[in-house]
Amino acid sequence: MLIIYKLLKYITFFIIFLVLFISIFFIPLISNGSLNFEYNGSSEIIAFNPNGFVWPLPGYTRISSYFGKRTSPTSGASSSHSGIDIPAPPGTKFIAVNDGEITFTQFLGAGGYTITLSFDNIRVTYCHCNPNFIVKVGDIVKQGQVIGSVGPKNVYGVKGNQYKDENGNPTNGATTGPHLHLGIRLDGKYQNPLNYF
Ligand SMILES: [Zn+2]
Repeated sequence: MLIIYKLLKYITFFIIFLVLFISIFFIPLISNGSLNFEYNGSSEIIAFNPNGFVWPLPGYTRISSYFGKRTSPTSGASSSHSGIDIPAPPGTKFIAVNDGEITFTQFLGAGGYTITLSFDNIRVTYCHCNPNFIVKVGDIVKQGQVIGSVGPKNVYGVKGNQYKDENGNPTNGATTGPHLHLGIRLDGKYQNPLNYF
């Protein structure tokens, strides 16, 4: 009987220790994302081009608005277009056109939710993104790595967002529908992105 009692005591201590160990070490890791069991799109590499950039939006090549002078499609959208617009459904993944560092992830006026990828003297901006960023400033990413997805036309709860659609609902920057706006700056000056692909 004494042996069984002792054994039960040890088992009880062991279980208490195990519960404490799990709660102290693993729960904080899970809650801060270090142990992320969910799919993390940002580690996925889906294109590679050793000789140049890769197209940012695999499977979507139609351009609805080119670089340069244009008739402004919506109030607040520029009449000199600083990039190219590639329409795609919300949630369509886009990728890093080259190896680089994420240097900006915020809502940026007419650009809506915006991600900037930087390398050498080039800044690549992805505008009208999904508000749930999967990369953060300081992340080093590889060419072809998924860094975000096309955002919805409407976004809510953004302080100071002055952009609205025809029904008065707030939009993801100056946009008439879901698309990726891609801008490329060389030494701070906007270039025609199509020169790079
Ligand atoms: Zn645009």
